[in-house]
Amino acid sequence: MSEISMSEIPITEVQASGKLHVIGIGPGHPDQITPEARAALAAATDLIGYGPYLDRLPPGPAGQRRHASDNREELARARTALDLAASGRHVAIVSGGDAGVFAMAAAVCEAVEHGPEVWRALDLAVIPGITAMLAVAARAGAPLGHDFCALSLSDNLKPWPTIAQRLRAAASAGFVIALYNPISRARPWQLGEAFAILRGHLPAATPVIFGRAVGRAGGRIAIARLDEADPGLADMATCVIIGSPETRLVERPGLPPLVYSPRSTGGAGG
Ligand code: SAH
Repeated sequence: MSEISMSEIPITEVQASGKLHVIGIGPGHPDQITPEARAALAAATDLIGYGPYLDRLPPGPAGQRRHASDNREELARARTALDLAASGRHVAIVSGGDAGVFAMAAAVCEAVEHGPEVWRALDLAVIPGITAMLAVAARAGAPLGHDFCALSLSDNLKPWPTIAQRLRAAASAGFVIALYNPISRARPWQLGEAFAILRGHLPAATPVIFGRAVGRAGGRIAIARLDEADPGLADMATCVIIGSPETRLVERPGLPPLVYSPRSTGGAGG
């Protein structure tokens, strides 16, 4: 593998006429769509995305087309977007949260890597958004105030033993862990198994935050101890944050507790 430094990234002078913007629209609340994302959405001739994400967006300018897809085949959706851009359209492909976090930006890069040469010459930009774990953390206090990591619990694209090994490594290294895709009808047992693994490495009282549909109707935050954490509190729209051994609760009269991870730490795992 060749080494890459910034100065070696080639600047393509000749570009195909089309554009592709990969846009994160935040966790759900309209105020959490960045002005940059709004401007990029308004500039597009075509929006592509999972139907419910497109439905969250305000109407676009006259003539803008919307292409709603289901949420399964990300690579096929990326190729459709690239084809449309290569035909000269200005395409915006939309993800919830941040487009680079377990979302479309990686599928677009993968399609470009393996696709026709003309896709490499497109004007391609990724516009960041507020990812779910940041929206959930902000509602709970500051659980990500010290070192943390994020894992997708979906074993569609990686085997379960890899996930289990990463959970053990992250917990024993003292990271706060944000879990995306914690549970679904097709994957009902993984979150319970993840809690069982983590109980082997973390104190029983470690705070666990269930942030469901934050920023949307029906949104809620629940906090539990790790030894009492019930996977039934999570669904597909939930991001689960498991504290490190140092994450703690600050009780407040008549208010939900603050969950935070102190800015300084004593040593690995404790
Ligand atoms: N790109 C998205 C993540 C896509 S993976 C982002 O950056 O947020 C889908 C997972 O994201 C869901 O299973 C859930 O774990 C999390 N998620 C997305 N929106 C959420 C929200 N509003 N509240 C809580 N979790 C959310």
